[in-house]
Amino acid sequence: MAATPAPAVPTIALNNGVEIPQLGFGVYQIPPDQTAEATRTALDIGYRHIDTAQMYGNEAEVGQAVRESGIDRSEIFVTSKLNNNRLERDDILRSFDQGLSDMGFDYLDLFLIHWPLPAASDYVARWKALEEIYASGRAKAIGVSNFQPHHLRNLFGASDVRPAVNQVEIHPFLVQDELRAFDADHEIVTEAWSPIGQGQVLGDPVISRIAQQLGRSPAQVTLRWHIQRGDVIFPKSSSKDRMAENFALFDFELDQEQMTAITALDRAGRIGPDPDQFNWIPS
Ligand code: NAD
Repeated sequence: MAATPAPAVPTIALNNGVEIPQLGFGVYQIPPDQTAEATRTALDIGYRHIDTAQMYGNEAEVGQAVRESGIDRSEIFVTSKLNNNRLERDDILRSFDQGLSDMGFDYLDLFLIHWPLPAASDYVARWKALEEIYASGRAKAIGVSNFQPHHLRNLFGASDVRPAVNQVEIHPFLVQDELRAFDADHEIVTEAWSPIGQGQVLGDPVISRIAQQLGRSPAQVTLRWHIQRGDVIFPKSSSKDRMAENFALFDFELDQEQMTAITALDRAGRIGPDPDQFNWIPS
């Protein structure tokens, strides 16, 4: 008997019509010398969306894995993000071009401002440089990361292109429902970084109970909660088994009680920096 094909990953339409796979693979903290192998494994499993950044130092290795995969470039969605130390227009355009060249691509699917750096930078001016990149066609979509509603409002008043996504920390201990509603009201898709709280939520008794009820792992239950809320996610793992586990999310569902119980775990449990306080610029 032929094996049943795995259910397809759904896509979400961004505000310019570009489709983004709702589940991807994140490569933060994967050392460059392991990134090509990890990305290759993710592509073999079926992932078609990779999330990297200039600050992760592994754009080139992501590009290498995509190019060598034999999969058509148009079938893989690749995101990168602007390094916090690229503050001036010319430097931003140069670093974007360098990233493309390192990856061996002629375009990125999505390019983001990584952090607003409110006390250290003019993020509206940086956004205008991203608008130039977008107008040139070398990024199919542009967006932001770690922006609060008041940062976004400042962009709306001063720019032509509405961000397609806002990538922020979200997991059951930091559910960010107000920010998600603000994004949705402004046709911005919310992406959830650290979707399993870097592992911190997996031992929670409520998540463990639901995992037992469903015969799924705590990571799968947490990732499925995101999928049903409509978040775009890209969990990170270097282990093939966990990558496969994190990809198997489309043949089960949480019921309303289970969804509500996980959302109720919210406790302002930020793992990463507060975007209003974070102004770190690497040398
Ligand atoms: P994550 O929530 O994806 O957790 C990763 C950790 O969980 C790793 O230690 C991994 O070994 C472990 N893990 C993964 N799958 C597991 C499983 N099935 N069972 C048990 N443990 C498992 O955290 P993350 O890596 O911080 O976030 C995911 C991605 O989000 C990153 O790779 C990056 O692409 C992005 N990100 C963006 C920002 C930003 O500022 N924009 C910040 C952090 C992360």
